[in-house]
Amino acid sequence: MKAEIIAIGSELLTPDRMDTNSLYLTEKLNSIGIDLNSKSVVGDDESSLEQMLRHALNRVDLVIATGGLGPTEDDITKKVFARVFKMPLVLEEQILRKIEERFRSRGLTMTSNNARQALVPSGAQVLENEAGTAPGFWLQMENQHALLLPGPPHEMQAMFERQCFDRLKSMSKGVRICKRIFKLTGMTESACDARIAPIYTLYKNPVTTILASPGEIEIHLKATANDESEANSLLDELGEKIEMELGDNIFARRGESLEQVVGMYLTMRQATVSVAESCTGGLVAERLTRVSGSSAYFLSGAVCYSNEAKTELADVPPLLIQMNGAVSREVAVGLAEGIRKRSQTTYGIGVTGIAGPTGGTPEKPVGLVHLALSSELQVDHREVRLPGDRRRIRWWASQIALDMLRRRLL
Ligand code: ATP
Ligand code: MG
Repeated sequence: MKAEIIAIGSELLTPDRMDTNSLYLTEKLNSIGIDLNSKSVVGDDESSLEQMLRHALNRVDLVIATGGLGPTEDDITKKVFARVFKMPLVLEEQILRKIEERFRSRGLTMTSNNARQALVPSGAQVLENEAGTAPGFWLQMENQHALLLPGPPHEMQAMFERQCFDRLKSMSKGVRICKRIFKLTGMTESACDARIAPIYTLYKNPVTTILASPGEIEIHLKATANDESEANSLLDELGEKIEMELGDNIFARRGESLEQVVGMYLTMRQATVSVAESCTGGLVAERLTRVSGSSAYFLSGAVCYSNEAKTELADVPPLLIQMNGAVSREVAVGLAEGIRKRSQTTYGIGVTGIAGPTGGTPEKPVGLVHLALSSELQVDHREVRLPGDRRRIRWWASQIALDMLRRRLL
């Protein structure tokens, strides 16, 4: 079964708002074996929407529309779909009374345009909106189906999940698609592909895709089967071979973030960490504390931007900074050791570097970052030269810092 999604709303054609509803829907549809033929975004314009809908119905049997179901003049979804599906709009007394009741209970008087929300394409199934006002609709014309869902993501998701998903699942004739996401660091995309391509190219199912971002690679496996356990065993088989090949470079097997994985290891080892950051400006601390429950292992973070702050907050001797420069192995180690001792944690992390675009010199170019990880018995140091702009360099540096800790905890 194939589907198309149409996101409706003029705001989605501006730089201010993006269609995210289709991402959610695609994920859900894929999981029950329904693939997208295409998706589109259209403004609040009747004739454009009508054209788009008629095209879609020439190609697929399921169209899902989001947005434009509200009570205002520019909300055209229902009107256009009713026309194309030949299900004229009729006023549904029961819905009208519900809307009136909602207004009354909040001490408001209903404006007449709200009555529009009680118009129902005749014969359509009404989908209740538990999180908002505009109801949704399930339309059917012979073997073709259309779902009209509200625009606000939380309303759309609640409606789809509770009132559409199971019915679509039973319509999609038992095909199941399961996914697995591996994440890794410490390798380039091409090095990773060179090692695993000989393995995954032997498999047509699961399908393998590799996605790279700064300091992180994702390997997505997508298996199609008649049921979930069959799909999962396909994923297990290929997944195990990929894991064998890439070993410790893989940090997540179910799509977890690096900070989640680090947090899990710290919890398991009952260890704690503190960080002293210069060029990352608190990003490492921010990422560690994104994880709920991080108070069990994250004790403190200092942003030591100036030389004075490196001394004041992490006890790096001024002379050490003077002799080696703020971006140096010695200062990174000093930050890591200093913050660890001060905070009395198992591990201390120090990061210092030049994020650019200004401040680079021939000896110390933009992108040079020194990182250190200290524990009572051992100090690890890494010197890296990271490409890209300021944001990318800072992110990548935080990634390496967290990965150094992960590898130590393994
Ligand atoms: P209501 O008017 O009752 O809120 P509606 O169905 O008319 O429902 P819209 O007015 O089209 O919804 O959209 C309301 C808001 O929902 C938009 O301002 C936008 O922020 C968000 N929204 C709409 N469509 C999408 C989409 N495809 N992806 C993400 N957000 C969306
Ligand atoms: Mg709207």
